[in-house]
Amino acid sequence: MTERSVVFVGAGPGDPRLITVRGKEMLERADLVLYAGSLVSPALLDWCGDGCRRVDSASLDLDTQIDLMVEAAEAGQRVVRLHTGDPSLYGAIAEQIALLRRRGVAVSVVPGVSSFQAAAARLSIEYTIPGGTQTVICSRRKGRTPVPDGESLDRLAAHGSTLVLFLSSGQAQAVVDDLLAGGRDGATPAACVYRATWPDERIIRTSLADLPRAMEEAAIENHALLIVGECLLPPEGRSRLYDGAFSHGFRPARPGHE
Ligand code: SAH
Repeated sequence: MTERSVVFVGAGPGDPRLITVRGKEMLERADLVLYAGSLVSPALLDWCGDGCRRVDSASLDLDTQIDLMVEAAEAGQRVVRLHTGDPSLYGAIAEQIALLRRRGVAVSVVPGVSSFQAAAARLSIEYTIPGGTQTVICSRRKGRTPVPDGESLDRLAAHGSTLVLFLSSGQAQAVVDDLLAGGRDGATPAACVYRATWPDERIIRTSLADLPRAMEEAAIENHALLIVGECLLPPEGRSRLYDGAFSHGFRPARPGHE
């Protein structure tokens, strides 16, 4: 019998075609798929075989989910835990992994396309700017879940980097207040991407100061990312990467341009 194991699979941001080939293979072979019903497209479950048991985790507490996965793994079944986006971000997989290991079940992870990557694609932007910020901060505003003091939004704002905020669209005004207090200019470009790559996706592009008003007008409160930074400006001129004056690993600078 194969080793008792559970595979965590990143489902991607919404569009079922954005799961990886490896993730799709895992669904095709699975005997049990435990998925987060509200966030994972039901169309993904069409990849599962006829005999596969599909269980929505939404109504199950953590212990029940673990029991279900352990029992199936112990019976030699192939178990998939399907998580939205990429499991490495706000997936709460660490607690599941600890409990599964404690019960003698091995785990592995198949990555997925995160919503923050899907949002960049839908906006056709690059979070890092040639000649500008080289940093993307993915974070969230504190809510019912705390955030360490050193990571409060006003402190993160001070870097002037690209900011991508998860789980914060229900408190847009507080986000903006924090970022202004941290020194970001109200005119900084900002965007809200609601349900990136789903059929009802919506995208707002505005300024930081105007973001709460624009989101209220669009009645967006959850399932959205907030993106702030100069990366949202239309690309101007040539990027330094392709500028003859700039040398990089594959192309020496043109003589006279060093
Ligand atoms: N692991 C996921 C994030 C889970 S936390 C990932 O990698 O994307 C859930 C939060 O992610 C939501 O509150 C929202 O802020 C964001 N999110 C997830 N899917 C999204 C989507 N398709 N469009 C916009 N935001 C999304």
